[in-house]
Amino acid sequence: MAEEVILGVKKLVKSFGGLLATNHVNFEMKTGEMSAIIGPNGAGKSTFFNLLTGFHAVDDGTVYFKKINITNWPPYKIARLGIARAFQVSNIYPKLTTYENIRQAILTQQKKTLNFFSPASGMAQKETRDLIEITGLSENAQMIAGNLSQGDKKRLELAIALGQKPELLFLDEPTAGMSGEETQETMDLVARLNREMGLTILFTEHDMSVVFGYARRLTVLHAGAIIAEGSPEEVRANEAAQKIYLGEEA
Ligand code: ADP
Ligand code: MG
Repeated sequence: MAEEVILGVKKLVKSFGGLLATNHVNFEMKTGEMSAIIGPNGAGKSTFFNLLTGFHAVDDGTVYFKKINITNWPPYKIARLGIARAFQVSNIYPKLTTYENIRQAILTQQKKTLNFFSPASGMAQKETRDLIEITGLSENAQMIAGNLSQGDKKRLELAIALGQKPELLFLDEPTAGMSGEETQETMDLVARLNREMGLTILFTEHDMSVVFGYARRLTVLHAGAIIAEGSPEEVRANEAAQKIYLGEEA
């Protein structure tokens, strides 16, 4: 099967005041990839996700999803097209249960795609249960979301993002604040979504052992610009990348 370009970013620019948070970034993802964006705090990783998902206005450059130019589309329209993101912006309703949160995400998506005569609520029940199962939340389905453990909240955020039925998923520090065991569980789940459901995934992560363990392709951001790119082995051997991570595990 020919690999299709699912995400194409050309000369993307974003500045905050005088600060170039995104500096002429060219970037591409093929369908089915599992990639990571790395770089020190303030490198521009979250800003990049915000530009790709319509949460920040782009100053210059273009973003393509498949062959559609989605530059500066509003977030709801980008989400409807098949791009979801999770983390660093919480989308959980803390007073609803786990089940209600996931069902709400599915219904919101269905409202956009089904007609008036579709048995939407009935379908959402099965889909909600499936997502609860996939993300390992069965035991906490009836718990009020605000009372979930940190790890389970992350799982719920992932389930809500999946409820949008995305083809492309952005995860901004999916394991922040997690124990080693929770980190591995979450990343194993993310890897399964990539492998078994064919989701194209781009994630950011501080822990280099997680990055090198799970991403098949890495992009290194520094001061808003890409300074290195390639397989984990290529990036590990890259001098510019080594300089940035001097003293760290990479
Ligand atoms: P990262 O996610 O890699 O830690 P960010 O994308 O959050 O980096 O930030 C990149 C730079 O842009 C930082 O210098 C940050 O202070 C700045 N920045 C991010 N968001 C805003 C904003 N809304 N307003 C002003 N500056 C911002
Ligand atoms: Mg960030």
